[in-house]
Amino acid sequence: MADGRELFSQKGDRMLTSEKVLRIYRNAGALLEGHFRLRSGKHSSIFLQTAAVLQYPEYAAALCGELASRTRVEQVDVVIGPAIGGVIMAYETARELGARALFGEKKDQGMFLRPGFDIQARERVLVVDDVLTTGGSIRKIIDLVHANDASVISIACFIDRSKGTVKLGVPIQSLATLDIPNYEVADCPLCAEGVELVEP
Ligand SMILES: [Zn+2]
Repeated sequence: MADGRELFSQKGDRMLTSEKVLRIYRNAGALLEGHFRLRSGKHSSIFLQTAAVLQYPEYAAALCGELASRTRVEQVDVVIGPAIGGVIMAYETARELGARALFGEKKDQGMFLRPGFDIQARERVLVVDDVLTTGGSIRKIIDLVHANDASVISIACFIDRSKGTVKLGVPIQSLATLDIPNYEVADCPLCAEGVELVEP
């Protein structure tokens, strides 16, 4: 078992710092180093495989519990994330907040809700995604929320690797930031060195 309990071994020290979040990713084998094509199409030397973290319910509870505690001051009716990665994240965060958990699925250029899922007008929605890079999926989820006349109160992610370049019109919270460059293909030094490209 990964050492989730060890993270909170000191009484009163339950704050999940950026360093601890990255340690969880490393311990779970979810922080890969090499030459990767990210979901956004950009290249990077680091790839974050959040599914490897969320296979441990204890890690999911720790990370989502921290997100929930930072959001608790707001009333939240619904937590929603993009499938598949956002499913567990939305569920666990919603459980902590006493909210409903939904996920959006990609269809054509946007996202849709499957039958049985509804967002009511004027509901207050927290949008979650594991890693923020360009915010592409999150924008589509925001559009889906607005299409239902509900409001997005905040965006919450485990790791922000956007270096502050993403503006979504609502506050963005993250548990950790990763200051690693993401390269356009034409400017990628790893491509220039001929390092084998991996598409996780
Ligand atoms: Zn490259």
